[in-house]
Amino acid sequence: MAGRISSAPTITISETKNTSRPIVARSVPGSVGPVAMARTVARPEPRRRLTWPDGAPAVGLHLGVGQGLLKAARRSREIGARALQIFSDNPTAWRRRPEPPPEAPDFAAYCALEGIRTISIHASYLINLAGSAEPFASQSVAGLVHEVQRAPRYGASLVNTHIGSHRGMGREAGLRRIVSSVGSVLDATPDGVRLVLENSSGGGDLLGSRIEELAGILNGVGAHALAGRLAFCLDTAHLWGAGYDISTAEGAIGVLDRFEELIGIQRLAMVHLNDSRSPLDSRSDRHEHVGAGRIGPLGLGALLRDRRLQATTFVLETPGTDEGWDAVNLRRAYLLWGGATELPTLPPKAFKTTRRSTRTGTKPSG
Ligand SMILES: [Zn+2]
Ligand SMILES: [Zn+2]
Repeated sequence: MAGRISSAPTITISETKNTSRPIVARSVPGSVGPVAMARTVARPEPRRRLTWPDGAPAVGLHLGVGQGLLKAARRSREIGARALQIFSDNPTAWRRRPEPPPEAPDFAAYCALEGIRTISIHASYLINLAGSAEPFASQSVAGLVHEVQRAPRYGASLVNTHIGSHRGMGREAGLRRIVSSVGSVLDATPDGVRLVLENSSGGGDLLGSRIEELAGILNGVGAHALAGRLAFCLDTAHLWGAGYDISTAEGAIGVLDRFEELIGIQRLAMVHLNDSRSPLDSRSDRHEHVGAGRIGPLGLGALLRDRRLQATTFVLETPGTDEGWDAVNLRRAYLLWGGATELPTLPPKAFKTTRRSTRTGTKPSG
């Protein structure tokens, strides 16, 4: 594992040393001079840490914390990330550590000091808010309550969870269960943390793959006094798997338009900006490097640049984060945000990473 980590700078440097560094064409609105139309300037790709202006959204990655919370925070700062998503514990287990690790206060302070604006905790994959089978239904609510209650001690303002599967009980019954489960979690958890429901790719009996279904959950929870704390995450690889063609700017913006119409953009707390190896509408969601999969750069770039999403946090859940590809993918997102419509071709080894920041395919319980 140490060998993998030490290889990280090689990847970064070899790409940035390339004399044919990609040039980002940015249009500068309101430019002075005799040319009335927007001027295009060449901005070289940054050599090291990325710098984002104030108006840019917070963009970062899901990083592993197996070697400590602070290591993930320092790595985020080093590569210029302004958001960080973590697991508070093993994502494929029910067992949760009773209290955050001792370094959690230092982690929270470091992130606040170093401009890592949003910390998100991704809850256990086993949580199934739609299930009715015991003991999993009770465990799901208790497990999520545990995460949200402890989130402030990590400095986290978001807790992201998968919605779950109705397990053959039917969509209506599943949606009723979700509304009830979400209400229970909101009741038992503190202000200042938003509960974020992540869209699914719709495989099996998974709920929440359609924006209409997410809106249905919000409508059900809407009467709850604490419904203001309910928010959503759109994972682009999941959208793609669910049949939303976001490979074009028009397609991606169309999804946002629909979300705005049915739910409201202020509820879009997070976008998981992942490309996908899976075909459109395949109900599968194998994540790929940014702009290097079947979705490609155009739709992902349109989301990053959409001014409605300036307050939305973008988290990359891309492959090989502990092998140096975290910096590469963050830079690719930065280039897209800056207006690039094409990205550097990645070497074959980029597609041979064995580790993934987030595992896909883990089934919810129940
Ligand atoms: Zn997820
Ligand atoms: Zn995701």
